[in-house]
Parts: sequence; structure tokens; C-alpha cells
Amino acid sequence: MNNLAKTKIVATIGPSSWDETVLRNMHRNGMQLARINASFADFEELDRVASLIRKISPRISLILDTQGTKIRVKALEKEIEVKDSLVISSNEQSQGIKITYPNLHKHLNIGNQILLDDGNIELKVTAIEGEDIVCEVIQGGILKPNKTVNIPSMNLVFPTLTEKDKEDIGNAMKLGYDFVCLSFVRDKNDVLAVKELLEDSSIKIISKIENQLGLDSFDEILKVSDAIMIARGDLGVETPLEDVPILQKRMIYQCRAAGKPVIVATQMLESMRETIRPTRAEVSDVANAVMDGADALMLSAETSTGKNPVQAVEYMNRIALKAESVMQLSPIYGNTEAGIESDAIAKNACFLTQNLDINSIIVLSESSATVGSVTRHRPNVPIYSVSSSIKKVKQHNLYKGVKTFYIEQLADDRDQAIAQAVETIYTHGELDLRDKIAIITGSSIKDCTSDSILEIVTVKDILD
Ligand code: PEP
Repeated sequence: MNNLAKTKIVATIGPSSWDETVLRNMHRNGMQLARINASFADFEELDRVASLIRKISPRISLILDTQGTKIRVKALEKEIEVKDSLVISSNEQSQGIKITYPNLHKHLNIGNQILLDDGNIELKVTAIEGEDIVCEVIQGGILKPNKTVNIPSMNLVFPTLTEKDKEDIGNAMKLGYDFVCLSFVRDKNDVLAVKELLEDSSIKIISKIENQLGLDSFDEILKVSDAIMIARGDLGVETPLEDVPILQKRMIYQCRAAGKPVIVATQMLESMRETIRPTRAEVSDVANAVMDGADALMLSAETSTGKNPVQAVEYMNRIALKAESVMQLSPIYGNTEAGIESDAIAKNACFLTQNLDINSIIVLSESSATVGSVTRHRPNVPIYSVSSSIKKVKQHNLYKGVKTFYIEQLADDRDQAIAQAVETIYTHGELDLRDKIAIITGSSIKDCTSDSILEIVTVKDILD
């Protein structure tokens, strides 16, 4: 495996990356998490991709992204050119363009804006005739089948979970996925409804923030979610585009403070769908997301339908590595779900890396909260998370700077577990005998109690 950045890479799998060799090369170049978009995949597809990914490495995390309540153009057989005027309708019998949202005409007024294809086509409502919405084309373009329909700032009525989402989440549980992404999360109730559906499944929930409602309830959504995705595709259509960089910085900071991982998504290396090198602006965007403190960066069309999926992952890793090389430990305040004592220990461990020349931090805890509490300070040394649960290993993959290790039979006894962990990491060539390391353990590793213990030791002392 190449030199991997601390910032994790989530790559979306699609027709461009279904091939085993392509996936292997994407993994070798830095993909540690694979995302499958349920909008374009049925059970067989989810199963096939999961098996292929597991064959390449059982440590690659699997993310299922739900379709959510996105409105789409339907029953359009081939692309059409949109110019001058266009009729949109929820009525199947209409001559206009049909969409997946029923009774849209009841919610709209003359003058409202409608955006098609992620905002590339802009319409203004000029008349409502029965179910037909007559629009003037402000910005025309080519409309392809299945493209998105957005009505910015309009709070349309949607169920908490669509039937498709319920089915897809059930499939993700059956197939052993590690994360589900919830699209268009509006408030904490949307997340709690999925938690109920997941029952005692250990899948983690990534809430996608992609409209004003999600932004308005961001604090409460963050509290009940395991991670956040800044879904800039829809966010840039639902809110003014120029707000997105500021919202991105704010949300990343809040996620870090809470010790929860945050993914920056969409159009990061968009031009690489076609070309072999990214634009200067894209390189800058990736580097800035890293410097903002994102845990993970996501590739969408670049790796799902683009021409250069392997090169896109490779570039993303290279840019992240370079940006990280100038970054410093960055203390952050407030408390996480790990608790006040564990937060204090985690923070001290990070500071001691500088004051005592500590080379790495090992976290031996079944609780993701402890990992989040350490990584949020973005220490400049590797953080090793060791677990006897392969699920946890794959879920800890999402945290910045965390290298994960799986030990099937991790001892209950703390000293023995530490020895096993150090030996395993050392055997993988990650530690030097002279290294001084900080070890954070739950006082009972197996029972994952919340009290943490911090020890500073040298690798040699443990292995002797
Ligand atoms: C986005 O809107 O940025 C996003 C990641 O969601 P989707 O790919 O489902 O549009």
C-alpha cells in the first residue's frame, strides 16, 4: 500500500469501478471506505459490490447511501434540450416532464424557482394549469433521464422514511454494511426513526446535511448521529452557492468539537471524470477541506462513472498528504460523548506527543467515542485503534489519522491486551523498538466502561 494520508478517502462505486483490478488499485492508492448509492442499486447489486470489496480487503468499510426524498425527473426516455419554456407535472397523462413528487402544483406559486440537474437548468414558474406547472427557462441545457429536481427553500411534505429507504436499510443490515447515510435529514426525529429501524444492529448512521432544514437543526442532528456528511451537491442547490464554503468550515469545526467524523462530499475532483489531472481549483478545494479539518473526503462521479477512478483516488491522497504535512496539532474544546475524564485524558495524550516526544497513540477501547475524543485534536502522530470487532475496525476507519488493527482474541486482562496490541502493530512494521507511545485503555477493555487510563511506555519495554 502507498503512503496514505491521515484524511480518509470515501470512493463511490459504480460502473467505472466494478472491476476487481480497478477496485484493488483504488484501495492501494488510498480508498479505505466504499460507498454505494442506493438510488442506482438493488439488493443483488449491493450484495455483489459487498462481496467484491470483501474479497479485496475485509477491512474496507462499506457505506450504503440512501436515496431519501430526492425528487427526480421520471419517464423520460432520452435526453431533451430545454429552452424557452417547459411544463413540469405530477400527472402521468400530462404532455410535460413528469416528476416523482405528487401534487407539486399545490405547493408552488408564480415566480418560484425550480432547478433541474443539480442546478444546471433553471426555471421560473409562470403559470399553474391544473397539475401542469408552466415555466420560463432562465438557464437552458440538456436534460437527461432521472435527473434531480430541486425547489430551493421550499419545505415540501415528505415521510420520515420512504419505503425504498426502509428496504435499502434492511438490505444494508442483512449484507453487513458498516454505515448508512441518511439523505436530506431535516431534524433529529429523522435520525431517531432510523435508529429504531436498526434496532440493535451495530451499523452507524451518517447524516447528510443538504438543505436549509438540516442546517437549521444541525446541533440536534449532530447529537444523535454517528457522523456527518456535508453533501455539497444538494446543499449548493438548496442554499446560495457562495454560502457553502462557510457552512463547510462551520460544520467541520462543530463535528470536531463533538468528536464525530465529518465527510466533505461532491465535485472535489469533478474534472477528473474526463481528464487525467485535476484543475488547480479542485486541488485547492481538496487541500482546503483537509486544512479545515475534515476526517474524510468523498469521490462521487469521479470513481463511479468517471474515466479515471484510480487516478482520482491517487490525486486525492497526494493532495491530502501534502496539505497534512504543514498542519499542526490543533486543540479543540468542549466535551464529547466519551465523558469529561476521558476527554481530559485524550487531550493530555495529544499534548504529550509534543512535550514528551511521543511517536504514536494507541487506543484500546471498544468505544468509538474515545477514538473520536483523541482524533479531534488532530495530533501529528499516528493513532492506532485496536479492536476485537471487525465492525468497529471498519467504523474507526472513518476517523482522521486513525490506523485500525483487528485482533480476534483480545485478552480481557489490560496488560495482556496492551502487549498483544503493541506486538501486532510492531509486527506490521509500524513501530520502532525505541518508540515512546501513549496508550489509552478503557479500564475494562471487554466491558468497555467509560473510565480511561493513560500510560506512557516504550515499545521495547512492552515487547521484552
Ligand atoms: C450530495 O448531494 O452532495 C450528495 C453526496 O448526495 P447524492 O450523491 O445522493 O446526491
